[in-house]
Amino acid sequence: MDSPFAPHRFRILLVEDDPAWQHLIVEGLAEQGIDVQTVGSAARAIESLDAAFPAAVLVDAFLPEGNGFDACARLRGHMGDRAIPIVVLAGQDNEASIERAFESGASDFFVKSLQWKLLAQRLSQLVATARLRSEIVSSRRRLDRAKGLAARASQTAREARDLAWRDALTGWLSRTGFLKLAQGLLDDSQVSGEQRAALLLIDLDRFKRLNDSLGTDAGDETLCEVANRLQRAFRNLPGLAMGRLASDEFAILFQSLPTGRAAERAAQIALTALRRPIDCGGLEFVQSASIGIALTRIPCGIESMMVKAGQALSGAKLAGGNTARTFVGTLGSSDRDRFDLENALHQALDRDELRLHYQPIIDPATHRLAGLEALMRWQHDDRLLYPDEFIPLAEETSLIFRMGEWAVGEALRQTSRWREAGLMVPTVSVNIHVRHLEQPELAEAVSKALESTGLDSSTLELELTETGVMRDIKRSLGSLHGLKQLGVRLALDDFGTGYSSLAYLTQLPIDTLKIDRSFIDQLGENGQSRAVVRSITALAQALGLSTVAEGVETRSQLDSLRALGCNEVQGYLFARPMPADDLPQWWSGFQGMVPGPVSARGGKPPGFVARGNFPILPMADSSPLGAIYV
Ligand code: C2E
Ligand code: MG
Ligand code: MG
Repeated sequence: MDSPFAPHRFRILLVEDDPAWQHLIVEGLAEQGIDVQTVGSAARAIESLDAAFPAAVLVDAFLPEGNGFDACARLRGHMGDRAIPIVVLAGQDNEASIERAFESGASDFFVKSLQWKLLAQRLSQLVATARLRSEIVSSRRRLDRAKGLAARASQTAREARDLAWRDALTGWLSRTGFLKLAQGLLDDSQVSGEQRAALLLIDLDRFKRLNDSLGTDAGDETLCEVANRLQRAFRNLPGLAMGRLASDEFAILFQSLPTGRAAERAAQIALTALRRPIDCGGLEFVQSASIGIALTRIPCGIESMMVKAGQALSGAKLAGGNTARTFVGTLGSSDRDRFDLENALHQALDRDELRLHYQPIIDPATHRLAGLEALMRWQHDDRLLYPDEFIPLAEETSLIFRMGEWAVGEALRQTSRWREAGLMVPTVSVNIHVRHLEQPELAEAVSKALESTGLDSSTLELELTETGVMRDIKRSLGSLHGLKQLGVRLALDDFGTGYSSLAYLTQLPIDTLKIDRSFIDQLGENGQSRAVVRSITALAQALGLSTVAEGVETRSQLDSLRALGCNEVQGYLFARPMPADDLPQWWSGFQGMVPGPVSARGGKPPGFVARGNFPILPMADSSPLGAIYV
């Protein structure tokens, strides 16, 4: 399927009494990767709804017992707050039928035809949006329960409405209205864990050209269509502010998304909605857009988020448009916040506030534990901060050196503790900033940590980003060779994003290429990503290097990577990064789920015995762990 965010194979319920159409739809959609369960009436659909858990429902508008619109309304009523999209299938697209379908609770309307690709795309988009919506709704519910502040948010929304800060053309909030509502939502937001507030700044590509060539009426019509599509894509989401900021610039603020990735998916949903051709007075054209995303876990000023999203947007435009970019860096509401944060970070090491979480790296052929990546967290007051909130700040000062040395020491000490307890962790990888390479203290700290733990030097792998290393390749080369003499392993992180020169790559004393998550994300849906991964694995093989794929989230990505000959995989499909104390339990659960004999590299260790009766839950493909073995 073409859609960049289409979920992997999913199942829908078809309510259709005509056996010929039943057959055609089942066959047609199967070819597009969609499984179809058929029932002949609304009553049967309601019966099987609870048992089947379909990702979407297709309803024929003309059913024997009354019509399909009533069936749609009954199904919607039965679903309650379950976000399952319903698409009404009708013989023709007259306006009355379309209106009736939406009044009956349908999410979309489709004219019966043999255009399976189109129908499959429409279904995929609806399913992806519904999943995002239900993630947001449940994350939002948790938030509301914790705070009971939903009322305040809606009061702010009412205030903004009452003040009539509306854009006359689209009916969206104007810039002033948006800023007010968005700031209200941010003030009330109290996200925790991986939740974040997200701002999407959406700018139409080459809109001026359209205005100049087709005239301002066509331009206005396009802007209204863009607003409608975005509205439809995200309608009814709680904690949302939408505004038209300037001529062709729109903004959407999500008060709380479950993860930063959800914001990227929301951006993909918006981009795909906009990519469909626009019909303007009989003339069809495509109006693409670029999106900048800013994320925050800290309550902060909307203006500061706008600046960051604006920078990310410039990146998206520079990349050629029709794409989304996320701002990477710290988000404080003001210089003062930043100053405070910097001071606190200075004290974090002395106060023992830094933590390492560990994410397993797995050999996909044998399901052995190949290693762990240590990822830094900061326990700051009562919040656990993630690297994107403090590493960029640390990188601007010499703090990043002390932090890196601490991480090497702590990761090796922890590995030694695990091994003493019987868990054979083969390697541990620590992320090091490229500037640190030039500091003689790094090699000293590495040698000292290896000596005091008695671990073999090849237990430690240091990860350096490809972009960092390539920025000043001549300097990097010398330092990397120096480190290599200690016997540690070296990895190029986020590989594929940094335009490596092949000539230099052959000279670098590295052992591993970690393929950037952005390529893995689009495997299966995007032929280019597949080609990139194939080239990287072939290149690595030719140079005698090992490959690790980052960010593996679905079973189908895993299958593709296995087929492409990737050596190791890492991602939420297996485990999220976890505190050291949680690893033994994860490990025994993982062994219990893997068919056949499995052990950490180096043999099954005593004390970590497989649990034969570990429950294998029938989960959806996109859900971690369960997806591997259903
Ligand atoms: P990285 O080294 O590329 O680390 C992988 C990041 O991807 C981690 O985010 C991890 O949680 C996330 N990840 C892993 N699997 C998945 C997946 O299946 N899906 C998704 N969506 N994400 C996945 P995290 O922990 O937030 O770290 C972000 C970055 O911060 C790291 O990227 C690394 O560049 C930097 N970092 C982390 N710890 C340290 C450190 O100790 N020192 C330095 N200098 N940088 C660090
Ligand atoms: Mg890394
Ligand atoms: Mg990486």
